[in-house]
Amino acid sequence: MCGILGVVAKTPVNQLLYDGLLVLQHRGQDAAGIVTAERSGVMHMHKGQGLVADVFRTRNMRSLMGNIGIGHVRYPTAGSASSLAESQPFYVNSPFGIVLAHNGNLTNHTELKEAMYRNDLRHINTHSDSEALLNVFAYELQKRAIGFALKPETIFDAIAAVHRRVKGAYAVVAIIAGYGLVAFRDPFGIRPLVLGEHATPDGVEYLVASESVALDTMSFKMTRDIEPGEAVFITMDGELHSRQCATESKLVPCIFEHVYFARPDSVMDGISVYQARLNMGDNLAEKIRRELPDLDIDVVIPIPDTSRASALQLANHLGLPYREGFQKNRYIGRTFIMPGQATRKKSVRQKLNAIGLEFKDRNVLLVDDSIVRGTTSKEIVQMAREAGARKVYFASAAPPVRFPHVYGIDMPTREELIATGRNDAQIAEEISADAVFYQDLDALVQAVSDASGGRISVFETSCFSGEYITGDVDDAYLDEMEARRASPLSKDSDASQVLDMNVGVAEQNLI
Ligand code: AMP
Repeated sequence: MCGILGVVAKTPVNQLLYDGLLVLQHRGQDAAGIVTAERSGVMHMHKGQGLVADVFRTRNMRSLMGNIGIGHVRYPTAGSASSLAESQPFYVNSPFGIVLAHNGNLTNHTELKEAMYRNDLRHINTHSDSEALLNVFAYELQKRAIGFALKPETIFDAIAAVHRRVKGAYAVVAIIAGYGLVAFRDPFGIRPLVLGEHATPDGVEYLVASESVALDTMSFKMTRDIEPGEAVFITMDGELHSRQCATESKLVPCIFEHVYFARPDSVMDGISVYQARLNMGDNLAEKIRRELPDLDIDVVIPIPDTSRASALQLANHLGLPYREGFQKNRYIGRTFIMPGQATRKKSVRQKLNAIGLEFKDRNVLLVDDSIVRGTTSKEIVQMAREAGARKVYFASAAPPVRFPHVYGIDMPTREELIATGRNDAQIAEEISADAVFYQDLDALVQAVSDASGGRISVFETSCFSGEYITGDVDDAYLDEMEARRASPLSKDSDASQVLDMNVGVAEQNLI
């Protein structure tokens, strides 16, 4: 999962992009990058590993000149190497000079890479599917472009070809040097992408972002979501063109954005993430009432931060007190994102601490947004017991995670998922809880669908259901992906094939 951003403005965009990336920081803390472009076509890039505030220094910001730009925060997905060479945006010099940033994950990356090498005579130098995506786009654009007179229709035709060749999830922003900003979304709209505008005396400025929260903080007005399969092209002068580029498209957004990933103050595909989470709380409360009719719960305690909205609504629904029993150290990043099980385990305690008086001699219901590996939940149940809780129940606003996520959210292999091969009672035993309550999948879908006002009823739910919307993911695919992920050897040998062209922080003028 990553966060992307693109701006076409009337004044320099470096600060806007920086501010926007800061509010998208929750979507990735592994690396950050910005490319800006001047009218002449000169592009400036700065990217590096780490948090936005650590990657960009004043001197870097000064070098990012131009009124148009894109930005990216990176979160390493499905077994990918976490290297500077794979941080985004990516650049190709032909045709015209293109930079691209991508959120999502391609499912036919291996085939694409091979076909590109054999048929398109293009070399992909990293293991990043985003570099492959950029090269497909560049190839298709080059094939169609005649001289320097690049028309919007030519760009859209190239994107239509991208849709035909590329499978999986992709929300994309790109700059074609000297021409403008391009943004597009895969035919299922799995990953979110919103469009906003800001009126100035010199004309309208446009912003494209993964989440609407970026628009709010940058004082842009939400215009609309980019449709699944649709592409938008905004010229350097701020002229907006758009076209549906997919022959077939259907909005099937990723439900995990609403469970965990997105900020609650975002609205995506017309769905308020906050409202979706409140609804999850209502539906989960109903399930708990059914399964625990005597309701011997004294207090409902959220695991901060993501589960707060659901836990609050759940408590209201059951008429139980809602109390903040855990204090979070807000200066520590999301634990899941740190590599390695040992680090992750240790960091749960660094991140959360129990407030004893909320637990002592009480039956507590802890609420989290989801249980993935179970490492966090197990540690937290133990903390609750150490703080004096009598019974510890654990509720998850999402159903059991039983399948890997192949569309851009880092989910471990089936073997590492606590719900694999275990029923609710066995999971409770594994995390030492008195009982666990999982949201049913139907109830989760209903919760998010209700938040859309009933407009959207089908979501990408593969990590719960094992049904992958792009139709190209089967057991063999998952086996291969898991084998690649599990084998450090293959990662090492892969790494040796990569020409390491980036030393330290990548900073360059792209002319
Ligand atoms: P665990 O069960 O220990 O794997 O951790 C689950 C917790 O991590 C959940 O409560 C979420 O808050 C968070 N989480 C779930 N999925 C992800 C993900 N893909 N990336 C980062 N954090 C996640």
